[in-house]
Amino acid sequence: MPKADAPKLTPAMQQFHRFKKQHPGCVLFFRMGDFYEMFHDDAELAHRVLGVTLTQRTEGVPMAGVPYHAVEGYLRRMIQAGYRVAVCDQVEDATQAKGIVKRDVTRVVTPGTLTDESLLADEQVNTLTAIAFHDDDAVSAAWAELSTGTLSVGTWSPDTLIDELARVRPTELLFCETATGDVPPRVQRVIEALDCAATGRPAWQFRQAEAVDVLKQQYGVAQLGGFGFADDDPGLSAAGAVVAYLIETQRTSAAGDDEARLNHLQPPRRYTRDDHLLIDQTSLRSLEVEQTLRTGGADHSLIGTLRSGGACVTAMGKRLLRQWLCYPLRDREAIERRQRIVEALVNDSRFRDELRDVLDKVHDVPRIIGRLGVGRAMPRDLTALGRSTGQAHAAAELLAQRPAVTDFHRRLASLADPLSELATMIETACVDAPPAHLREGGLIRDGHDTRLDEYRTLQRDSHAWLARYQKQLVEQSQIPSLKVGYNKVFGYYIEVSAANKDKVKDEDEVFRGWARKQTLKNAERYVTPELKEFEGKVLSADSRAIEREQELFAALCAAAAEKTATLQVFAEALAELDVLQAFARRAVKHRYVKPTITDEPVLTIEGGRHPVLDELLGDGFVPNDVELGVRVPGSGARAHDVTEPEPGTPNPEPTPGASLALITGPNMAGKSTYIRQTALIALLAHTGCFVPANRAVVGLCDRIFTRVGANDELHAGQSTFMVEMTETANICHHATSASLVILDEIGRGTSTLDGLSLAWAIAEFLAERKPRCLFATHYHELTTLAERYPNVTNLNVTVREWQDQIVFLHRIAPGATNRSYGIHVAKIAGLPDGVVQRANALLSELAVNHEGGAPPPAAPKNTNGAGQLPLFTEYVPHPALDELRRIEIEAMSPLQAFDLLRRLREQVDDFVRKD
Ligand code: ADP
Repeated sequence: MPKADAPKLTPAMQQFHRFKKQHPGCVLFFRMGDFYEMFHDDAELAHRVLGVTLTQRTEGVPMAGVPYHAVEGYLRRMIQAGYRVAVCDQVEDATQAKGIVKRDVTRVVTPGTLTDESLLADEQVNTLTAIAFHDDDAVSAAWAELSTGTLSVGTWSPDTLIDELARVRPTELLFCETATGDVPPRVQRVIEALDCAATGRPAWQFRQAEAVDVLKQQYGVAQLGGFGFADDDPGLSAAGAVVAYLIETQRTSAAGDDEARLNHLQPPRRYTRDDHLLIDQTSLRSLEVEQTLRTGGADHSLIGTLRSGGACVTAMGKRLLRQWLCYPLRDREAIERRQRIVEALVNDSRFRDELRDVLDKVHDVPRIIGRLGVGRAMPRDLTALGRSTGQAHAAAELLAQRPAVTDFHRRLASLADPLSELATMIETACVDAPPAHLREGGLIRDGHDTRLDEYRTLQRDSHAWLARYQKQLVEQSQIPSLKVGYNKVFGYYIEVSAANKDKVKDEDEVFRGWARKQTLKNAERYVTPELKEFEGKVLSADSRAIEREQELFAALCAAAAEKTATLQVFAEALAELDVLQAFARRAVKHRYVKPTITDEPVLTIEGGRHPVLDELLGDGFVPNDVELGVRVPGSGARAHDVTEPEPGTPNPEPTPGASLALITGPNMAGKSTYIRQTALIALLAHTGCFVPANRAVVGLCDRIFTRVGANDELHAGQSTFMVEMTETANICHHATSASLVILDEIGRGTSTLDGLSLAWAIAEFLAERKPRCLFATHYHELTTLAERYPNVTNLNVTVREWQDQIVFLHRIAPGATNRSYGIHVAKIAGLPDGVVQRANALLSELAVNHEGGAPPPAAPKNTNGAGQLPLFTEYVPHPALDELRRIEIEAMSPLQAFDLLRRLREQVDDFVRKD
């Protein structure tokens, strides 16, 4: 702000400061002529962030500007750099303005409220989320995508908030500001966990009554009951805060207008957690669903792979694919409905191709509706909408012939007529290849509108008109040298040479209405009412044509906006079909099969492959089987190690299978790949997608848990081990017999004995709780659990030793292994020969120390690749233990028991003496 003794501000600068004050925390883009200017700190910031030249408006006022026609690119960069921008426009024609031109902030661009095509990638979800803590037991969140017009609401217990929001993936988080303006610690934790922009909002916007009012006004209803919400539903406070912010930033009506609303924003939908297979933040991350751990990019993630090769044709399909993968279904029938359509598409290549042809012509309808809703649609949006809705009949006809998609046909058939009408309206009005903006017109076809045609004719035909007019005047006046001319200062005129000027007589009928305009040395210039009118028309024809085009464009946009609800249904149906055809194409191209979905807690996979590695390695990928859960003969859940019953033998009772498989094997053998591929196959099966396997039976899961690798979260102030234990604790608390749990190398981050004990106890816990669980471990001791628990089984990854080398076969086989080949792996990794030889020598020596009938010693952790056999001697199970394990107490007499005790005691004494 200027100092008190600073020179008086110009009216424009007064406007600037007023808007700046109204929008604290925003960079102000202030429109002046052909530029958006920034002043003071904003100018310096723009110089730093955008690299634009810093100048001075008046002495001491830094200024930087960006050309108005390129503003979107600069806005994008500002938003990407984490700033919010208030765009202040001239809201009246500068040439008509009396005094200072009127300006107003026409939109506030924030990370979570983007709608412009140039600011958003097709597949990008851009979600604005508000959170409202009610008490210690409940928190609500509401999330909206302004660009597509969706709004969802959920209420949960606070401990699930981050997991749920990880799936929502907010770009911007709204929270209730404290009186002091601080960010409350529990909000701070959410912001850090989600790594998103955050905006504090006044407390009253979160108050139930105010929030409900905002919602009622937005949807023009007296009650929200029609949307399934009672007025006291706690989720509404967050929903109201989101809507208030959207309206405020979009300023679709004049500021303070009580009628302000967003036409395309759909009513709130309630998100019910139990409708979906739950995947927490850790699992989403470690299964690399959206991005890989290594690069943080989408390439080679599950979504990246499923989207690759143009699998989804439409932008909305690409976004829905993400939605389906992050929110898999839990309802068998709903999954099977999707599967039936995928199957129909797999079996009918013509259907696939024809559907793709239709989808290919459909643009990003939800985002176009979004831009129509906030009044920022462009000419190309309109023509794209016309082309898209032009496909409505083709889509309905295509679906009419296929029983598998009757439901879709029903949804689309009734929309086809109104949407085709809209298409025809747009197509008849607009040219095929319109300009990017309407600044110079060029959208409306010739012949569509008489007034526009007239202006255009005037623009184009003014020369011809003038020539015709001159000819007519020459004939009437009998002055052959008469000319009709134009100059910038005087406009159009009729020029008569000095020699002929006497012929121009007022009383003569021919010259009636002629008015003298200018006298030159050799000529006299006149103007007539007709010429004046022509001049008026020609000179303003340009701007009038553009104005008229804008009117027509606005009318077409309004007609399209009236069909918002219909368009939304159309877009949703096509997005679903797009994902389903992408699933089908993948199934055909990559040999995926339809998994059988069952309510029983089983998981049988034959020839399963990792969806990402399979594609990268091609034939080099070794498929593997999985058999978990209760086996029900005849359900198709046939285990590879179970022999087929003889024909004619009665169906045996369901037999308990292994719910927990312990997987041992050397590093690099493929344990992680195997357990991850199993989780990914289960996840895909719940989305309705076919799976990379030869055969699969997937019992419905309530949750998928993963604890994979060491996710170093030092930035969150936690040690690797702490993270590992927190994640494992979460699994122990929440895994049920319907969950799928995959665990990789539990207990690595602490001393070997601690680690082993923890891994052991956790394995026992899971064996008793009985979720389907794959547990990869380097603690070979755990494999003895299979002897004690009928539902625990051992698997190992096979390797072949060959000329002092090992070859990884990547094949999972039944049984345990007690070798880790750590030194081999270290050698392959390039550890110096000397170190490898020394490690081998140490290994032999330590192994000898432990010979003599003792059970396999504890395997150490492999922190430096230098050894996998006992490097520590504190844990050596005593031989007396074996004897103790073998005794049958019930079969012993007191005397025998006494004898045994004495013998054991001697053994222990003996052992201590030797030691
Ligand atoms: P581990 O968890 O046992 O250390 P990984 O699962 O990380 O091993 O696998 C190591 C590497 O082995 C993978 O990056 C992959 O290149 C290869 N690999 C793993 N499983 C397979 C497989 N089934 N077929 C082919 N290559 C595999």
